[in-house]
Amino acid sequence: MSIDSGQDGRGAVVIGSSLAGLLAARVLSTHFPRVTLIERDEVRHQAEVRKGQPQARHVHGLLTSGLNVMTRYFPGLPERLRAGGARLVDFAKGLRWHAAGGYRLQFETGLLAAFVSRPFLEWQIRQEVLSRPNVTLLDHRHVTALLTTDDRDRVVGVSIRGSAGGSDAELRADLVVDATGRGSLTPKWLETLGYRRPEEHIVPIDVRYTSRIYRRRPGDLQGAEAVLISPAPPENNRLGALFPMEDDRWIVSLAGWGGEHAPADEAGFLRFAQQLPAPDIARLLPRLEPLSEIFTQAFPANRRRHFERLSAFPEGLLVIGDGVCSFNPAYGQGMTAAAMQAAVLDDVLSAGPSHRRLWQTYFRRVAKVVDTPWQMALCEDFRFPKTRGRRPIGSIPMNAYLARVQRATHHDPLVYGAFIEVLNLIAPPGRLFLPTILWRLFRNWWRGGADSERGRRPAGHLQTTCPANRATQ
Ligand SMILES: Cc1cc2nc3c(=O)[nH]c(=O)nc-3n(C[C@H](O)[C@H](O)[C@H](O)COP(=O)(O)OP(=O)(O)OC[C@H]3O[C@@H](n4cnc5c(N)ncnc54)[C@H](O)[C@@H]3O)c2cc1C
Repeated sequence: MSIDSGQDGRGAVVIGSSLAGLLAARVLSTHFPRVTLIERDEVRHQAEVRKGQPQARHVHGLLTSGLNVMTRYFPGLPERLRAGGARLVDFAKGLRWHAAGGYRLQFETGLLAAFVSRPFLEWQIRQEVLSRPNVTLLDHRHVTALLTTDDRDRVVGVSIRGSAGGSDAELRADLVVDATGRGSLTPKWLETLGYRRPEEHIVPIDVRYTSRIYRRRPGDLQGAEAVLISPAPPENNRLGALFPMEDDRWIVSLAGWGGEHAPADEAGFLRFAQQLPAPDIARLLPRLEPLSEIFTQAFPANRRRHFERLSAFPEGLLVIGDGVCSFNPAYGQGMTAAAMQAAVLDDVLSAGPSHRRLWQTYFRRVAKVVDTPWQMALCEDFRFPKTRGRRPIGSIPMNAYLARVQRATHHDPLVYGAFIEVLNLIAPPGRLFLPTILWRLFRNWWRGGADSERGRRPAGHLQTTCPANRATQ
């Protein structure tokens, strides 16, 4: 059976309606007369965690560059998030962040971070995408196979089946975008069609998230809007985040590397929090009223698929989001990387949706976009003794240098400002190697250890304006 042939014009299909799929659909809607999203889960008109995205139960920070790209495609998104109760706060000023043995400075940078639950963010975006007249969502249906031309050179649609079973239907399209996440079926489909699978770079880290939601009351937290406690490997491999969410709630996520996992019972959860490198979350937890069970989710490995290295690939098929690159969530890069890939898709399609070897142009540009966050995540993960796999070249001297940068974030607003811009993918990593930064690190080293002394104070003492940012305004 054919449920939509696309015979009256070019149509696009997106498989998976999580964040990457929604962003892809938004972009495609300006290039194709009709866009169909296909989602395995039932999708209701509300903010909720679906079976296909269990990660939505855990803390989801959105980096500034991700928020900027999303706002470009959904003008007014920050206002809608705020109106729904989300907190959009200055990344440095609003975040009490303990890392590298001390508290980072809190000061105005002008770079906003969105503190919002993942289901609420996705729901806001979904409403925007589905309000576009040429976008349709077919939920509770999954894609079982790709349809191709006889020579298998081109994908011309997908076979879909109701999630409750039944027979397959065909949905024809000029472009199919796979946004099915980490478990993307494209490598298997490629093999079935006689193509090579992409090379995969897998870096096992054995991380597990354990999270719970609590009621948020005024006065719970003084001097900051959120708390992040980073691990201090190799001695301490534990992370804790306490972030505000809409509806006056906190989400607390605890994560551990290399098998050091927070238990999912109340006592174990608190005990794990007490062993974080700083006490802020553990002190607050006993006073908070739980609103949910404790959920856990394993994140075994960083995984990148190098589609850009393939010499043959069917026309009419692309992959976006976690299916291309899935990073350790501790660095908050996944949604931003998906948004940046959607922007690449937009650019590439602007040159003409039907140009030959579109896939090659797209994947090469996507590779460039994910390279930086990927290298950053791996460099950081190789500080943990149990991380295995291929280490990025130069990561050892790089980590030694970054350790100095990290300590400087306790007292030097210029260095921290540059660090925040790199971390938020606003500036390239080279920013941390500019002569002004090198000079300040050298001066800190020469003065000897002032950095770590100041960092031991609780955050909130040094409020200033970020000179690095001022210089760029
Ligand atoms: C614990 C955890 C915490 C995270 N925290 C952060 C964070 O703080 N910041 C951040 O930016 N990112 C974070 N991430 C990553 C982020 O969740 C993802 O990068 C982001 O959701 C983009 O994923 P995606 O849309 O590519 O895939 P997914 O979210 O995995 O969605 C895939 C979708 O495809 C559907 N699907 C699958 N197969 C089929 C099929 N055959 N047919 C139809 N539909 C199908 C699924 O149901 C699902 O809806 C975190 C991830 C985890 C695991």
